[in-house]
Amino acid sequence: MISPDLCIAQPAHALLEALPARHAQLGALDIRRALPRSARRMVGPWCFLDRYGPITFREGQPMDLAPHPHIGLQTVSFLLEGEVLHRDSLGSEALLRAGGLNLMTAGHGIAHSEDTPMRSSGRLSGLQLWIALPEGARQGAPAFEHHPALPIRTFPNGEMTILLGEGSPATTFSPVLGADVIVRGALELPLDRTFEHALLVTEGTAMIEGQPLVPDVLYYLGTGRDSIALDGVARFFLLGGAPFGEPILMWWNFVARTQEEIVAAAEDWARGDRFGLVRGYDGKPMPAPPLKGRVRPPAAS
Ligand code: MN
Repeated sequence: MISPDLCIAQPAHALLEALPARHAQLGALDIRRALPRSARRMVGPWCFLDRYGPITFREGQPMDLAPHPHIGLQTVSFLLEGEVLHRDSLGSEALLRAGGLNLMTAGHGIAHSEDTPMRSSGRLSGLQLWIALPEGARQGAPAFEHHPALPIRTFPNGEMTILLGEGSPATTFSPVLGADVIVRGALELPLDRTFEHALLVTEGTAMIEGQPLVPDVLYYLGTGRDSIALDGVARFFLLGGAPFGEPILMWWNFVARTQEEIVAAAEDWARGDRFGLVRGYDGKPMPAPPLKGRVRPPAAS
């Protein structure tokens, strides 16, 4: 039975919307894509979220993403277990381990590869996310940052590692939050009421406002929340940010505003212009898929 007080306590715009991820293959890796989905394209500036693993492997490279280009976004790579080796066309090479952050700002263009290193723990579990860059930053210079350790906020019954947002050394271009949250019991987690938020359980089982959270489902929380009430023993990824407010076009690895920008980026990649070379990766770069017709603009979000 629902108490009337509970209904009054929650403002009408504080949603709890369950968005099941869709399964897909990324090379040998089974992934669950939680963003973009037709029902929701973005959460703040976050426009892409893949969850992969946990898996155990004895040999080979479950992660093997050949050099490919990006424009108009930041890539956020975060591991719960295992290792991923990043190389890019700026000459960066960084081994990402559990708990660290690889953050690549594409700006007007960069290329990178991400693969499982030759020597690894044989485990892999992680997240790949993209943040759309706002108009003032999306044509800027590319950059790469590796943050092996990040600030942690502790709460009664929990802690939050802040990858992006207040307290994090990571460079951002619009108001954003990205955090790895651990809950051990009842936890009232403070939120910025001006942000949209969503969360994805990565380990364990938890409840939000008395409702069980299902793995591989993104829970969209809307705006206008000062906090969320969680309970359980679990780990989840919390993403948030000010509603983005700029319509974006996404195609392949590009975030743009117009069809012409996407066509130009694809042509430059095919010709070997703009993005530079990724040195050290053993293999050929990834070709873009054929671009058929017009890129579908996103639904309003
Ligand atoms: Mn990439």
